[in-house]
Amino acid sequence: MNESVTPKIGVLALQGAFSAHVDRLRAIGVDARVVRLPADLEALDGLVLPGGESTTMSNLLGTFDLVAPLRRFITVGRPVLGTCAGMILLAEKILDGRSDQIALASCGIVVRRNGYGRQVDSFETAIDVTGLTDPFPAIFIRAPRIEQTSDDVEVLARHDGDPVLVREANVLAASFHPELANDDRIHRLFADMVRDAIDNDKISNEVR
Ligand code: GLN
Repeated sequence: MNESVTPKIGVLALQGAFSAHVDRLRAIGVDARVVRLPADLEALDGLVLPGGESTTMSNLLGTFDLVAPLRRFITVGRPVLGTCAGMILLAEKILDGRSDQIALASCGIVVRRNGYGRQVDSFETAIDVTGLTDPFPAIFIRAPRIEQTSDDVEVLARHDGDPVLVREANVLAASFHPELANDDRIHRLFADMVRDAIDNDKISNEVR
């Protein structure tokens, strides 16, 4: 991995908790930019889909003509981190969603909106994450529950037996809000995924 590369990572800023992601990425040396229009995606090495309200975000993706460009961005292999509502957008299938809600189907997970129930709308718990030495303080806010994962999905962390952090190829998805914790390790993990993708791109261009 090339530590000297400064990755350019966009944060979808249509709605929701995007500014904490921007701050966190900048604090770890990433060139973080807000994304509102398809053209904003062009120069980026990676993208964060933040938490918020997934049905509203889904509407706005349509309004801003972002659905097809977003799918392309992910299909060509650029890394994407989806948190909470952002994870819902990336899912294969959404339960308890609105019938016209967009599921980009970029990650083989079935998610249930607000799946942790009303009585525990929001909570914080320490989770063990594959690759991290100490537990991560995970903040869940009306969080989606991952009810199924396909074979290609690697589960990196669980809470009460259910997956809460998963990876499938270039897609990393969390049902919690890593940007709200006083801990930058999940963002560092994602920035490393982006640096690796930049390196692999360079290698395949040289081979060509
Ligand atoms: N419950 C929200 C939704 O369904 C997600 C909550 C969040 O992102 N904090 O969109």
